[in-house]
Amino acid sequence: MIIGGIQKTSTIDFPGVLSCVLFCRGCDLNCFYCHNRELIYSFGKSLDDESVREFLEKRRGLLDGVVISGGEPTLQKGLKEFIAELKKLGYKVKLDTNGQHPDTIKELCEDSNLDYVAVDVKATLYDYPSVCEEDGFMNTAETVEILTESEMPFEVRTTLYPGLTVDGLSLVLASLPVMPLWRLNYFRMPQKYREYDEERLREYALTQQDVEKALPELLKIQPNLVCE
Ligand code: SF4
Repeated sequence: MIIGGIQKTSTIDFPGVLSCVLFCRGCDLNCFYCHNRELIYSFGKSLDDESVREFLEKRRGLLDGVVISGGEPTLQKGLKEFIAELKKLGYKVKLDTNGQHPDTIKELCEDSNLDYVAVDVKATLYDYPSVCEEDGFMNTAETVEILTESEMPFEVRTTLYPGLTVDGLSLVLASLPVMPLWRLNYFRMPQKYREYDEERLREYALTQQDVEKALPELLKIQPNLVCE
């Protein structure tokens, strides 16, 4: 596991579970609005395994869960074994994924050490390449299908990226069947971004007011929608 950073405590990343967040290095998407740009590449400063283990040992009984985030955790070698170790330490485990590796998700679901998964749906099939530089919608749809068929509790998340309109959002929400929970995240300007993305990042992004106004129509498409 290549872990680039730890958030020592979080009350919001794992629903109902006081947790820490481990940020893995490396990602196979490149979203223009990424907040963890320094983690996209697998090279760079990372924490040594021993200090991560020591931290997790020390926090036993103080924290209830661990969120494995990124970057993209499913790219990590030894992820399955690492999750098993966390379970042995008594933690509940949540995985945040960009949905690009359905086979890995299938394996992890079968292994049944995971407690919760959050999968990102970045955009419509048509808009995936412009939002995250990959034609990744079908992989995400397959991941969601696997999670739906498994017993795994999960949620879907979409960031209201600049330029996404209410009509565009409706198309994103309609691109999958009704989900158990679909969380909308409001856009915040990242601290680091590519210079050529600046103009796009400064486009209008939907606000809480916009979403609240459109909510009755959006709930007709995805009844289990929440906005944060
Ligand atoms: S999937 Fe997540 S970590 Fe990867 S580029 Fe997109 S926002 Fe960043």
